[in-house]
Amino acid sequence: MRLFDLHCDTITELYKNNGSLCKNSGHISLERAEYLSEYVQDYAVFIPDEYRGRSAVDYFDSVYEFYKGQLKMNPELTEYADRESSKFKAVLSVEGGAGMGGTIEGLHHLADCGVKLITLTWNGRNELASGCFDEEDIGLTDFGKEAVKEMERLHIAADVSHLSKKGFYCLADIAEKPFIASHSCCDTVDNFKARHRNLTDEQIKIIAEHGGIIGVNLWEKLLGNGNDNSFDAVMRHMSRIIDLGGEKCVAMGTDFDGCDINPDLAGIEKLRGLYDYLLSHGFGEKLLDDIFFANADRFFSALLFTKK
Ligand SMILES: [Zn+2]
Repeated sequence: MRLFDLHCDTITELYKNNGSLCKNSGHISLERAEYLSEYVQDYAVFIPDEYRGRSAVDYFDSVYEFYKGQLKMNPELTEYADRESSKFKAVLSVEGGAGMGGTIEGLHHLADCGVKLITLTWNGRNELASGCFDEEDIGLTDFGKEAVKEMERLHIAADVSHLSKKGFYCLADIAEKPFIASHSCCDTVDNFKARHRNLTDEQIKIIAEHGGIIGVNLWEKLLGNGNDNSFDAVMRHMSRIIDLGGEKCVAMGTDFDGCDINPDLAGIEKLRGLYDYLLSHGFGEKLLDDIFFANADRFFSALLFTKK
C-alpha cells in the first residue's frame, strides 16, 4: 500500500514537545509507517492566528529549523522535490499564509525554504484573506491576490482548507493553475465547525474543474456527528467527492496530530484498516491507489516538475 497524505500537524507538534519523527506517541512516526511501500507526507508548519507580520515569520523559521533537523536525523526521509529514491518523502507546507509576514519577500523566503503548498488562511483573517471563522468575510485582499499570482509563478500550490467562502470564489476567479483543499470534507454534516470548514458540492466541482484535488480529513467533527466518524463516514465523503468531481479528485488529508480522530483511524498504522474496509465495500485496487497515493502524486509532480 502506498500513501500520500496532504496534511498533518506532526512537525509543529513535535517542535512544541521536542519530539522525534522516528518514534513518538502521536499519530505519525516513521517507525509505524514502515508497512507502507511508498510514503509521501505533507508536513505543515502551523502558524497560530495570534502571529502576524514579523512574529509569524520568526515562528515559521523556528519550526523550519526543527524540520530540517528531523530530515538530517532520518536519512530515509528526503524531500519530495529532490526526486531521490527513498522510502519516505516529505512535502513542506505552511498552514496560514501569515507565514509570509505580509510581504512578497516573505513569500520568496518560504519558497527558498522549499515550501510547496500554502494554506492561505487558518480560521481567522490574515494579510491574504478571511479565514472560515472570520466575522466579516472580505474574501481575498489585494495582497492575497498578488501573493496567489506569485505562488503560481513559484510553483507553490494554493490550499483552500480553512479559507472563507468569499475567499474561495475570489481565488477560483483569479487562479490560472489548479489549487487544492488539503484537509476538508463534504458539506453534508450539520455542526458549527463542519458548516464553516467543509466544502459545498459547488466548491468540490470547481476544484475538480480546475484540476485540483481534495484530501479527506479524518477529524471527527468534519466527518459526522456523534459516533458517525469512522470508516463508513470516510467512505461516504469519498464517494460524494467521486460523484461530484471524479475519481481523480479525491485524496487523503488526514489532519493527523492536529485534531481528535476516532480511535479506529487515529494513527498512520490504522490506515491499512481503512484501505481494507474500502476494498471490501466495492472500491477497486486502482481507485484505492488513486485515493491513497496517485492523485496527490500526479498533482505535485505536475506542479513541481513541469516548466510553465
Ligand atoms: Zn487545519
